Amino acid sequence: MTRSFARVAVPRPVEDMFHYRIPDHLLGRIAPGHIVTAPFGKGTINGVVMEVLEEVPLKVRSILSVSPVLPVEDKLLELTRWTASYYQSPLGLIVRMCVPPSVRSQSSKFRLTEKGRSALNEDTAGPFGDLLAALKRGARTAAHLEKKFSSDEFERCLGEGLIEVSDSSPSSPAAVEAGLKEPQYKKDEDTVHTLTLDQKRVLDSIEKSIDDGSFSVALLQGVTGSGKTEIYLRAAQKVLNMGQSVLLLVPEISLTPLLTFRMERIARDGVAVMHSALTAAQKRSSWEDVREGRARLVVGVRSGVFVPIPDLGLIIVDEEHDASFRQEETPSYHARDVAVKRGQIQGIPVILGSATPSMESYRNSEVGKYRRLELPKRVTPYPAPEIEIVNMADPEVARTENPFLSDRLMSVLKETVDDGSQAMLFLNRRGFSPFILCPDCNYTLPCPNCAVTLTYHRKRGMLCHYCGHLQPPPEACPNCQGIRISPVGTGTQRLESAIASALPEAVIERLDRDIIVKKGALQDIYTRMDRSEIQVLVGTQIIAKGHDFPNVTLVGILNAEQALDFPDFRSSERTYQLITQVSGRAGRGTKKGRAIVQSYFPGHYSVSLALDGDYRAFYEAEASIRSSLGYPPFGRMGRVIVEGAKEETVQKACVDIARRHSGTKGIRILGPSSAPLSRILNRHRWHLLLLASDHSTLSKALRSTREKSYRSVRVHVRVDPYHLM
Ligand SMILES: [Zn+2]
Ligand SMILES: [Zn+2]
Repeated sequence: MTRSFARVAVPRPVEDMFHYRIPDHLLGRIAPGHIVTAPFGKGTINGVVMEVLEEVPLKVRSILSVSPVLPVEDKLLELTRWTASYYQSPLGLIVRMCVPPSVRSQSSKFRLTEKGRSALNEDTAGPFGDLLAALKRGARTAAHLEKKFSSDEFERCLGEGLIEVSDSSPSSPAAVEAGLKEPQYKKDEDTVHTLTLDQKRVLDSIEKSIDDGSFSVALLQGVTGSGKTEIYLRAAQKVLNMGQSVLLLVPEISLTPLLTFRMERIARDGVAVMHSALTAAQKRSSWEDVREGRARLVVGVRSGVFVPIPDLGLIIVDEEHDASFRQEETPSYHARDVAVKRGQIQGIPVILGSATPSMESYRNSEVGKYRRLELPKRVTPYPAPEIEIVNMADPEVARTENPFLSDRLMSVLKETVDDGSQAMLFLNRRGFSPFILCPDCNYTLPCPNCAVTLTYHRKRGMLCHYCGHLQPPPEACPNCQGIRISPVGTGTQRLESAIASALPEAVIERLDRDIIVKKGALQDIYTRMDRSEIQVLVGTQIIAKGHDFPNVTLVGILNAEQALDFPDFRSSERTYQLITQVSGRAGRGTKKGRAIVQSYFPGHYSVSLALDGDYRAFYEAEASIRSSLGYPPFGRMGRVIVEGAKEETVQKACVDIARRHSGTKGIRILGPSSAPLSRILNRHRWHLLLLASDHSTLSKALRSTREKSYRSVRVHVRVDPYHLM
């Protein structure tokens, strides 16, 4: 029998795939991985063929056309199937990330073929005259045409060769076969460093696994400044020299310009950088460069893990612990773990690098799943900076003038600036002040849509960081009409202005999300930091990442354990990572660095062990807590979130889900309870956590949760959740 039906994954948040008939004129031209246009509801949709079948049980509609872009290869299809199944995410939304952006749009355009044009001119189009006439002036979207014509008519016109799908960027397979100019890869001449003994040992091991050419995972744990980048570069160089491609995943491209730049040097023209800030045209050309083999070094953020790359030989995940690799929204997945799976499916080595590995990856290296490689020393002239702690809980310590800034930090900051060096101050809270407070009645201004207080921004007003609601600051307390209502607490804006008045001579800049959305602002700050035109840089965790400023000798962390306030079992891990990452920014050049950490809980192990720089001790302390509770990585966790317009309905559904799981063998339930963010955009939220000893038990329980539907609420499940808000 002929295989004349196809199962197609469409980019919609639905579980199911859709069946279509393959029309006669496309028979034999459609295989798994092909991108096709098919009727969907009243319109059309572009989807990916996952399977071709001999028959289907139902009467189905026909595929309209097949895109000329290269199909998604089998191994990538396998990766998307695994991802969708493991994370219980809609397959169509996962597969979509393997499809070039130019053909992702949900409505294609149709245009006349030569044959169609002459049929129209010669008036021989018969019953199709109207449809052809509608296309006379150029391509039209399917959505536009569907108002007047049926998909049946499309199909017949396509079959007769009278019309065709106009693809905005057909990357023709012919061009690939014809062979393209061989990209030239050069050595990074300016940065031929002599490797330290540690680096040599690590590189040897990695080169061996590249020579083996089979799947393996190396966890590269190197303290900040230990020269991990050099290892990435040399490993990448080797793979490129072998004629294969390299995928480098980073948390945020704009924040790692140096790494991207150095990668560009070794590959000259052959680098494709993929991130959301690119224009549509840039994105399209990056994809084409990669698919056609012109760019063999691909640098991407989390979704880059799904980019089709011919002859992939190595995957590197930098800052593997970074939470931005986790996509929490639908389709949820963790790019680091998907990268490891991709390495396994493609049979190639994977390198995960970090100064502060995630508990998950470190545990995998403990049990022998990953090979641990260590770079325990800095390559710079000075070792990691000494970290000094200021106990903010001590009433003697805090300055009265600026309660958030200790005398100690202030005086070292002055010294640093006087000495001609630079300082970075870290505060994980943007805005001028977290909220405004009426001291007479304790009123704080809430967001009308979300269960959070509004953040006070000096220029913009009261802003909700969750839904974007903006309103002017009230002149009097809306509750008691008191006029003493005013900003309290500290955000980056307020810190910036406090430093500015204490150090009137110094140039102070701020770097946070509010700044980097302005075009060119980030580059400008980096350039001026490099030239030492800025003395003090104040910022959120953005300053913790990436860029090296050799003249920075002081790093101050203002609220080290802010993460500990969150009801999240990963908060100690985050605190440890943050202190280590941020303080590691100091003393990267020829001057010795120091870090001052202000803390209200200096005795907390995540703070004190970060001061000691003792990752191993932190891992063991954290591991003993988590293993006794059965928390990841010693058990599996799933999260069920129920949301809806009425809190009562939401709560009822969540309680019912918990009740249905209460007897399930191997499952422990935490909750149900109102989610820490109990309302976003007027949707009430409840959640519960499921713990299981293994993935398959958890997976089964979560699947059964999704089988039952509840009226007027939505139920989301998250496998291995990272954010519990
Ligand atoms: Zn809001
Ligand atoms: Zn009041």
